Amino acid sequence: MTQAVWRWKRTGELAPWAVSNTHGRGRVHRESEHPYRGPFQRDRDRVIHCRAFRRLMHKTQVFVAGAGDHFRTRLTHTMEVAQIARTAAACLNLNEHLTEAICLGHDLGHPPFGHAGQAALNRCMAGHGGFEHNLQALRIVDRLERRYPGFDGLNLCWETREGLLKHCPRRHAKALGDLGERFLERRQPSLEAQLANIADEIAYNHHDLDDGIRSGLLGHDDMIEVRLYQDAYEQARRRHPGAGLRSLMAEAIRGMIDRVVSNLIETTRTALESAAPEHSDAVRARAEPLVRLSAELQALHAELARFLRRRLYHHPRMEQEYEKARTVIETLFSFYFEHPGQLPPGHGPEDAGEEKARAVADYIAGMTDRFARRRFREVPA
Ligand code: MG
Repeated sequence: MTQAVWRWKRTGELAPWAVSNTHGRGRVHRESEHPYRGPFQRDRDRVIHCRAFRRLMHKTQVFVAGAGDHFRTRLTHTMEVAQIARTAAACLNLNEHLTEAICLGHDLGHPPFGHAGQAALNRCMAGHGGFEHNLQALRIVDRLERRYPGFDGLNLCWETREGLLKHCPRRHAKALGDLGERFLERRQPSLEAQLANIADEIAYNHHDLDDGIRSGLLGHDDMIEVRLYQDAYEQARRRHPGAGLRSLMAEAIRGMIDRVVSNLIETTRTALESAAPEHSDAVRARAEPLVRLSAELQALHAELARFLRRRLYHHPRMEQEYEKARTVIETLFSFYFEHPGQLPPGHGPEDAGEEKARAVADYIAGMTDRFARRRFREVPA
């Protein structure tokens, strides 16, 4: 990390534009303060202790969960996002606990089998309001986790819920009250939410590259066309002239993340100092994000994303996996839609007070990959 960033080192005090622990918009159900944990520490802890969080362990990130012990799962991805975002939050004197709570909860709503699962479930739900994993994360923390006697959901702070809602189609935003307003008015969320959002992209672009290598679908000769990798690889080779290719590739990916995150911190710091928003609500009044990469790094990062789409996500072997995932999700959806009585207790439309399709989608979205496959095998032909 450069000198410039270190000059902005931690003082323990939040920047004026950070979300403060004391002036938040609070929880839907009033609760007394905790003696030694702040509101966002409590939110983080509630996320970590919820059942949906534990299920992330057996959900696909990109490679099917269980295909190999070293591939990322939704859980390890979530931890990498939190690590990147917390580093930046600390350097920028933003609210680290809020940032962490948002990161740890950001993928709670993902159905099994990664994006293929999300696309399939959304298709099944066409005509019933669709399925979107961000909205599902909000449903989980607002309603579906039922472990507290005083309320449904986790009763998280408004700022944490704001951060979980990364995207939202306008037609859904209208139903979300003040949480949905920013999508209708095209405004930004808090800096902590912006940071969690971009840390997610940085984490998956780099770890998908790493997992792509492990899977054998990507090699050094493919990746060298990506400028970020090329630069980092050359630097690693100069620094470690005797090192073998495998460790140089790993060092290159490490160098890429460091370059992108350092640029994010420095660019954001400059943007914040020049915009100098008076408080977090002044951040929310803006149309453009203040947490950002420089134009050069943004272009390089976008090039990496395009490379991954072309060479990894649309690889024929990946497409085969997507096809299997689609079959599992569609079969399960049709089965439970036709036989809602087969939904386990607590998941039926009458228990959940939901229309049938939504109750079925909630149940399927909550499944891990392995549970979904097991249920699929049990569905009568
Ligand atoms: Mg994510």
